[in-house]
Amino acid sequence: MKIPITMCHGIRNEGTNPLTVKHLETLISIAFEMEFNSITYDDLDRWFNDGISLPNNPIMFDFDHPMKNILDEVNPILSNYGYTGNLFMYTKPYDARYPKDLPWKTKEPHLSWNELRQLKDLGWNIGAHTISHPNLSDLSIKDPTGEQLRREIERSNQTIKDNLGFYPKDFAFTGTSWSSNAEIEIKKHYRFGRLWITGPNYNVDGNNVRYADLVGINGADELDGGPPYEARYITESTDRYKIPSMELQALIYEPLNFKRYIEMAAEENNTSS
Ligand SMILES: [Zn+2]
Repeated sequence: MKIPITMCHGIRNEGTNPLTVKHLETLISIAFEMEFNSITYDDLDRWFNDGISLPNNPIMFDFDHPMKNILDEVNPILSNYGYTGNLFMYTKPYDARYPKDLPWKTKEPHLSWNELRQLKDLGWNIGAHTISHPNLSDLSIKDPTGEQLRREIERSNQTIKDNLGFYPKDFAFTGTSWSSNAEIEIKKHYRFGRLWITGPNYNVDGNNVRYADLVGINGADELDGGPPYEARYITESTDRYKIPSMELQALIYEPLNFKRYIEMAAEENNTSS
């Protein structure tokens, strides 16, 4: 089984490879025409744990950061095709007293708790993404005790619990950063840890490392500049705490590349079953 998994930050009209409503709709409609079915981390957990089978042609749509456009612009596109997504939220906008700010300034509005509840009610999975979005590789060097990281995890979990009524079960690593210490902590609190593929490399424990080496996949990087194709899908042998995700604004931005990405999974799944 090969499960394609995409990631983006919602609608972004600016910059290189802008993800407009129209562009996102084009990509999602390709998945629909190819008869893909969206799954959440609950489905993935039941499949990993209990061997409960997934729908034909499963695909995951992940979104990081609790931006208002996820409800206003992304969800209408997904739900139009019968799809639901997975949202990973940082909590700084809802935790003014926490002394560390996000590493960037954004004028874009965030989702309110009410809107987050609406997404949850629509079937979205809501996971954790720290409070202030630290670079986890840098943080592991700056604070080897892990104290700050534990605070980021525990306090963001509590903020979500206090406002939405549940502890998040899944975690998305911040940016393209990872640390051994972070993984140990994350294993204590969550059932999955998700990574993010934008190119060949990752920040790991203060070093620049190939993504493929981080996740233990053999072979050279592909001609498009990304890790080996095998590293780009969830499979039976994927580490639960090293779940991949393919950025929609990078290697699979062009509709033909997106189509090829999901087609490679469909071809394998349909010959092996
Ligand atoms: Zn992020």
